[in-house]
Amino acid sequence: MTDPVHAELAAACQGRVVAEAPLAALTTLRVGGPARVLVTAEHDGDLEAVSAVCREHGLPWAVIGRGSNLLVADAGWPGVAVVLGRGYRSLEMAAGQVVAGAAEPLPSLAVRIADAGYGGFAWACAVPGTLGGAVRMNAGAHGGDMASHLTEVEVFRLSSATREQWPLSALGLSYRHSELPDDAVVVAATMALEAADPEQVRAEIASIRAWRRAHQPLNEPNCGSVFTNPPGDSAGRLIDRTGLKGCTVGGAQVSERHANFVVTRRGATATDVATLIACVVAEVERTHGVRLHPEVRRLGAVEVDEARVARGAGAS
Ligand SMILES: Cc1cc2nc3c(=O)[nH]c(=O)nc-3n(C[C@H](O)[C@H](O)[C@H](O)COP(=O)(O)OP(=O)(O)OC[C@H]3O[C@@H](n4cnc5c(N)ncnc54)[C@H](O)[C@@H]3O)c2cc1C
Repeated sequence: MTDPVHAELAAACQGRVVAEAPLAALTTLRVGGPARVLVTAEHDGDLEAVSAVCREHGLPWAVIGRGSNLLVADAGWPGVAVVLGRGYRSLEMAAGQVVAGAAEPLPSLAVRIADAGYGGFAWACAVPGTLGGAVRMNAGAHGGDMASHLTEVEVFRLSSATREQWPLSALGLSYRHSELPDDAVVVAATMALEAADPEQVRAEIASIRAWRRAHQPLNEPNCGSVFTNPPGDSAGRLIDRTGLKGCTVGGAQVSERHANFVVTRRGATATDVATLIACVVAEVERTHGVRLHPEVRRLGAVEVDEARVARGAGAS
C-alpha cells in the first residue's frame, strides 16, 4: 500500500523523496534501519513541504548531514528525514567573510578556503561532516572550532516554515554543543576568517591529514570520537587505561588504534554499537569514577542489550 506521507511529499517536493529509505549508507557507522520517508531538499519549497506534511500528520522530522555523528536505530525511524541536496551547496568569499551553504562538506570547504588565502579553518579538513552538522555540533579539532569563526547562521524553522538569521551570540555554542532548537535546519553560515598564506595553510592541512591517518581508524566505519572528553582529561586515555581497546560486542569494536573510536564490521547492528558504548561507560565509571558522555547522536529507539552490559565489557 502506498504511504500517504510519501505520496504527499513526492507531489510537493522538487527533490528526491524515498519511502522506507535505508539510512545505514547515509551514516559513517553504516548501521541502522530505514526512515519512513527521506527527502533530499533542494530548496526552501521542499522544506516547506516537509514542515506542512509533518505537522498535518503529527510526524517527527530530523535532518541528516553526512551522518558522521549519527547512530540510527536498527528498527529505523518512523519520521521524515531530510538531507540537504546540491541546492544548499554554495560558497562566496570576499574581504575575510565566507558565506557557505549548509550542505557543503567540511573537508573540501577547508581546502577551498585555504586556496583562497584564509587561515584558521584548516582543522575542518579532518571532520567528515557537512557545514550544517558542524554548526549543530560546534564541531572542532586541533585547537579550532566552529564557534571561533561563525558570525551568523541562517536557519529554516520546520515548525513555522520560516527563514531566520541567528547571530553567533544566539547559538549557545559550547564544547560539541549548540542551543539550536530541534526544528532549526541550518541552511547557510557566515564565518569571519583571517588572511593567510595558502601554501602554509595547505601544509597545515597535509600535516593534520597525516596525523589522522596515523592515529585514527579511517579505513573502518566509525563516527569519530564516541565520547566527549571529560573536563581536564581525555576519553580515549581513560578507555585505553581501562583496558578496553579491542573489546567487542557483536560486530562493534573499540578501535585498537584509537580507544575513543568504535568501529563496525559487516553485519554489525546499532544495538551492538549502543551496547558496547554502555559497556564502556559502565567499565570506565567503575574503574576511574568518571562518567563518559556520548558525543554521537541517536535517531530512533536504539536498543541496548542490558544483560550483556551487566556481564561486563570483557565478556563475550
Ligand atoms: C573519522 C571521523 C572523524 C571525526 N572527527 C571529528 C573531529 O575532529 N571533531 C568533531 O567535532 N567531530 C568529528 N567527527 C564527528 C562529525 O564529523 C561531526 O560531529 C560533524 O559535525 C557532524 O556533521 P554531519 O553533517 O555528519 O552531521 P550528522 O552526523 O548527520 O548529524 C549530527 C547532528 O547534527 C544535526 N544536523 C545535521 N545537519 C544539520 C543541519 N543542516 N541543520 C541542523 N542540524 C543538522 C543532526 O540532526 C544531528 O543531530 C568525526 C567523525 C568521523 C567519522
